[in-house]
Amino acid sequence: MRESLHDVSLVELEARIEALGHPAYRARQVWQWAYRHAASSYDEMANIPASLRAQLAETLPFTDLTPVTNLTSDDGLTRKRLIRLHDGKLIESVLMLYDPRSDSRGRATVCVSSQAGCAMGCVFCATGQAGFERNLTTGEILAQIVGFAREQADTGAQPITNIVFMGMGEPMANYRAVWQAVETLTNAEGADMAARHITISTVGHIPGILKLADESLQVGLAVSLHAPDEELRERLIPTAHRFPLPDIIAACREYIAKTNRRITFEYCLMDGVNDSPAQGRALAALLSGINCHVNLIPVNPTPNDATPGAAIRRPARARTLAFQRELASKGIPCTVRVEKGVEISAACGQLRGKAEPSLIQLASL
Ligand code: SAH
Ligand code: SF4
Repeated sequence: MRESLHDVSLVELEARIEALGHPAYRARQVWQWAYRHAASSYDEMANIPASLRAQLAETLPFTDLTPVTNLTSDDGLTRKRLIRLHDGKLIESVLMLYDPRSDSRGRATVCVSSQAGCAMGCVFCATGQAGFERNLTTGEILAQIVGFAREQADTGAQPITNIVFMGMGEPMANYRAVWQAVETLTNAEGADMAARHITISTVGHIPGILKLADESLQVGLAVSLHAPDEELRERLIPTAHRFPLPDIIAACREYIAKTNRRITFEYCLMDGVNDSPAQGRALAALLSGINCHVNLIPVNPTPNDATPGAAIRRPARARTLAFQRELASKGIPCTVRVEKGVEISAACGQLRGKAEPSLIQLASL
């Protein structure tokens, strides 16, 4: 596949533009259009000579992403998008806005996909149920964000402030492309995002956690645990034996020792599976002494009845709160994730799962 504008670094763009016979400073201008102004085509780049725009459109086109479906939640604060890639694969991205009345600073978070599908196979996850297709390129990751940034700019709305790699796929299994996207997002000449406002979520990919610990950018780490013991974890995540729980915890301790940063642990609560008070106590024991925050996520039931995850349900509110109390009583900071976009299937891979049988039906919603 041809490289796209969003695939290259600023240094590489300079080299490309010089090779096309133009001065290197043009690269900085193009870069600013791409990431400060979230341009959607070279035509918009008014201060770039038409000859260079034409050459770039030919040799380094814009990333080919086609929005297929857009859904907005009832309160208008969550926008979810199903996107078709150049080879027909489908991915999802979500924009989550926060009510300015409850968060005066204003925040707009994009949840990006890093892969089409996922090889980890988590039984409760719609993406995992559908299997792995391929890694996304850096350009495909960035174009998801640029698309939302552009819409926000066009309407004078809150600019994008945060990125979470919590869409489809396991970002650590596509580290190189993900990391280049992070470097582009934090580049001061372009989007200039704070690294601390970017979070990578992993199912516990140990080499990825250790690699992240050595990076100089202060990107946040979230680790999805879902079980306090290895046996249950391997039932929920069939590939989990590759990264045993004690080794994940050891890698997390190493990450904290090196970076001095707090880790978020994600724990998807499933009724009668991993949500008992005893399991809460076991989780608290596992995390004791670790600088962390636990995010409890009541599971979103997946739509596909034929899968092993079909019988998985979210616990009653009282049971969720009892689990939270077990952690809190052991001094582990813990919140229950605010539900965003449940009615538009905002959880990982769910829109695609619904959309594949009947795109037209969804498009008319
Ligand atoms: N692969 C990475 C990042 C993408 S998944 C990871 O697993 O961490 C991001 C988060 O979505 C994970 O914490 C996962 O547990 C959660 N998730 C997946 N399916 C879900 C569902 N059906 N309901 C609620 N959360 C879900
Ligand atoms: Fe992959 Fe994360 Fe879904 Fe598990 S929860 S299948 S690791 S995307």
